[in-house]
Amino acid sequence: MADFNKILNTIDSNIDSEINLFNHELKSILSTMANLVKNRAIENYTDPLEFDFAMQQVLADSGYYDLVDDFINKSYDKNYNEIISLFQSSGLLTTFSEADIADIKAIKKLDLEFFKSIGNQASLKLKADLYKYSLSNLSTDEMVENIANSLKDTDLVRYSSTYAETAIGNFNQAIIDLKSVDLKDTVRIYTGVLDKKTRTFCKCVLKQRKYYNNSEGMKLKSDPRRAYNCRHLIIPVSLSFATERGYTSGKFTC
Ligand SMILES: [Zn+2]
Repeated sequence: MADFNKILNTIDSNIDSEINLFNHELKSILSTMANLVKNRAIENYTDPLEFDFAMQQVLADSGYYDLVDDFINKSYDKNYNEIISLFQSSGLLTTFSEADIADIKAIKKLDLEFFKSIGNQASLKLKADLYKYSLSNLSTDEMVENIANSLKDTDLVRYSSTYAETAIGNFNQAIIDLKSVDLKDTVRIYTGVLDKKTRTFCKCVLKQRKYYNNSEGMKLKSDPRRAYNCRHLIIPVSLSFATERGYTSGKFTC
């Protein structure tokens, strides 16, 4: 039976390497996107209202949709075995059922729609800006420069990386939650890395070493202070597993 902490580390490093891969790809996609936006802005200068179709094409041609598709359909899938082993290592037995697989597909579909909506939002913003610039007395060069700056200011450019890190963390938590519902007589503990990047709130919760009932676990899960980029997970374990490791009953008071 593999060690609980070792499995947690594997989950964490699997997520890290998928995020690094995503960020690496995203960087080159964004630079391709910036060039394509400039070119298409010139082409659509005469009719800026058609630009959102052009922008959808830019998103496709730059590889943005392929990136999010791979992220959700490949990167998301790296931890199923680890999650099952994690449950087993604390003495809980579980497997994925047909119903779980349907739920997993539904979660993925929602996330895919979310990333697409970030793309749509960027298209609409650039179209509106291009229209605005075309009504002004800007030269073509100035207009192209402005539209390139507009792109930099979209959520797609500014937050895609944060969204990805948050989404993959939430996905792993959702898979754990799926399996937690069937388990009786378990408590929840807060787990994960404690390093320089760990925010004050998470550090405080980790250091308290409390175990929680389900509703306190839910409260912790949705606490706004861990809303973005949190690398921690709330995991069900048996009561004896928690107490043997020095966890005490309580609430998080951070
Ligand atoms: Zn955290």
